[in-house]
Amino acid sequence: MPVFNCAKGLTMNIISLGAGVQSSTMALMAAHGEITPMPECAIFADTQAEPHATYDYLKWLETILPFPIYKVTAGSLLDNIYANKTLSGHEYQDVPWRTQGGMGKRQCTTQYKILPLYRKLREMGANHKDPIDFWIGISADEADRMKPARVKYVKNRWPLLEKNLTRLHCLEWLTKNNYAHPPKSSCVFCPYKGNAEWRALDAEDFAVAVKVDNFIRTLSVEQFVHRDLKPLQDVDLRSAEQAGQMAMFGEECEGMCGL
Ligand code: SF4
Repeated sequence: MPVFNCAKGLTMNIISLGAGVQSSTMALMAAHGEITPMPECAIFADTQAEPHATYDYLKWLETILPFPIYKVTAGSLLDNIYANKTLSGHEYQDVPWRTQGGMGKRQCTTQYKILPLYRKLREMGANHKDPIDFWIGISADEADRMKPARVKYVKNRWPLLEKNLTRLHCLEWLTKNNYAHPPKSSCVFCPYKGNAEWRALDAEDFAVAVKVDNFIRTLSVEQFVHRDLKPLQDVDLRSAEQAGQMAMFGEECEGMCGL
């Protein structure tokens, strides 16, 4: 593995890779020289709870990209759900489960994605004098998710927005270049999923989601993974998408989940 060093006065370019449509397209466009400069690497923050399809896609990406993909993790979000262990230090779980009173507070993106990514960037030498250009795969149709980095040693950049590319443009670009479309990347039990995404899980991943859904109701409050506030195994997932359902990662995502 190459050893990177930011302390040379050179700006490093690093991709935040979620292995979804937008960040994968961004990485592949960089590989084609359509976004410059060539990044030093991409980093994937692994909750250890992504669908099989995402891990398979990631393995394929590793064979295609001319730069390495580093994986970082804060541990298994799935194991910690069952252990009722939170990394945020709150008494409620890190995942914002759905309840009659609305969704819980979302801590998983910060704890399992943003902080491990930032730790890796620090390890690679990022400092406030030589901040890293960190590429976030937010597309033009989701521009409201754009937020500055939380720390001075990271400068967020949004290359898809610079090119005014929407998610649809990304899919068109992938098709034009004969690349398969990435699966939607999000934890198998993620409560932001719409019906199409629940349906897209393979049988094994769906069984994990059902088990998690049943488990969280053994904790203190009545909570669910599905927006209908019903046990996942009882929901009619064939129903048409409800209004707004595809706009899953709203204002809180920070461009780290689902991309
Ligand atoms: S995909 Fe969903 S459950 Fe997983 S870290 Fe992101 S918001 Fe949390």
